Amino acid sequence: MNENRQFVEKGTTILIAKPFSYVLSSKQIKNRCDNCLKSGKLLKCSGCHYVNYCNRDCQRDAWNIHKQECINLKRIAPRVIPDAARLMARIIVKLNSGGGEEKGYYSDHSFRKFKDLMSHYSDVKEDKRRMEHFTSLCGVLFEFMGKSELPNPAELMGIYGKICVNSFNILDNDMNSIGVGIYLSPSILDHSCKPNAVAVFEGTKIIIRTIVDVPRFEWSQIKISYIDLMNSRDTRQAELMSTYYFLCECEKCKEPEPLTESAICPEISCSKYCDINENNCSHCGRELSKELVEKFEEARDFTENHLQNMRSMAYIDISKMCLKKQKGVFHPLNLQHVRVLESAFDATVTLTYWEDAENYALQLIPGYLHYYEKIHPLTGLLYLLLGKIQMHLGKIKKAYETLKISRSILLITHGEKHSVLMENLIPLLSQAIGEIRGINN
Ligand SMILES: [Zn+2]
Ligand SMILES: [Zn+2]
Ligand SMILES: [Zn+2]
Ligand SMILES: [Zn+2]
Repeated sequence: MNENRQFVEKGTTILIAKPFSYVLSSKQIKNRCDNCLKSGKLLKCSGCHYVNYCNRDCQRDAWNIHKQECINLKRIAPRVIPDAARLMARIIVKLNSGGGEEKGYYSDHSFRKFKDLMSHYSDVKEDKRRMEHFTSLCGVLFEFMGKSELPNPAELMGIYGKICVNSFNILDNDMNSIGVGIYLSPSILDHSCKPNAVAVFEGTKIIIRTIVDVPRFEWSQIKISYIDLMNSRDTRQAELMSTYYFLCECEKCKEPEPLTESAICPEISCSKYCDINENNCSHCGRELSKELVEKFEEARDFTENHLQNMRSMAYIDISKMCLKKQKGVFHPLNLQHVRVLESAFDATVTLTYWEDAENYALQLIPGYLHYYEKIHPLTGLLYLLLGKIQMHLGKIKKAYETLKISRSILLITHGEKHSVLMENLIPLLSQAIGEIRGINN
């Protein structure tokens, strides 16, 4: 995309890049190809017996970056290497063989090399948590690669810092993280909690697309979100500070956020959000009783505790218990409420309780529209999954309407050629149309 300040419509691909370096997440090592990250039938590398490939072509493509690593992986087996150390090792090997000259173009004449990435050297150096992590990584790398392959400690820390602040999580079509990569040209993109662009992936390739119209295109004006937007300002700002070392002052961070921890007004004719720390509803003036405050606080503490426990796995019984406590005291857009709906939804999908799943998805949508906004990959994918559930339930006309909303979003966030549309959405939509015709005939 050239920077000539032209109008750029939403749903435009403004950057496509292959990774400078990447690793498949170790959690996925048995399920996905180490080269293209696809899942399916895989063949084990006969050298290290650790990584897997789709076929000989993928193995051949990966050999250049894997050959050194293969020997080291074999030597340390049955132990494995942490993802961050593996990524660092790959970058070191690449830089040792001239990779520092690789250019990532973001316009016809502008590019970035690895050395141009920010390292936040002094921030990292003063960051106790990161320095502990770095020290342990150095130990692993020393053993994995041998001292002669490693750059000097200052350079090593520079590489570490660059990884910390420039890595992208590589996402599959359901937006689950399956790996981590360094991308040269997309590293110019700044953050906003109200972004005007998103990053989606096709395999290891990153695709940056605008999600709102940009009147006068300039790279400095293009913002993506580095973090999960389903969070309060305090949480977002703390995460951005501790991971990227800056205080976010985006337009969203300047706006008040009355909903994230809100109660619902007990006055039925009002039903607006209330601040539990106030004595009265700011909309209708109804007094917030001591009982309501106590019930709210109990539900809040109970939910917080259980959301913590459900971080790695959602349980339907626990989610239902939280929702029961929240009923009549939490506003529907209270962040904890939305999160519990999300875990209830995830759990029912896993259990294939389609009726319940549809119900939770419908309740979850307002939360997604509020926190992620409509034109966001996750909102588009929620509609897609809801449409799929409605198909399962035989509610074809509803499914058709839901899938059309999904399409209107995903056409902007992913584009018509993306595999999520080609392989998931469009076939489902065609099926729905076919079945509706069948009913009508
Ligand atoms: Zn492959
Ligand atoms: Zn191998
Ligand atoms: Zn912000
Ligand atoms: Zn009220």
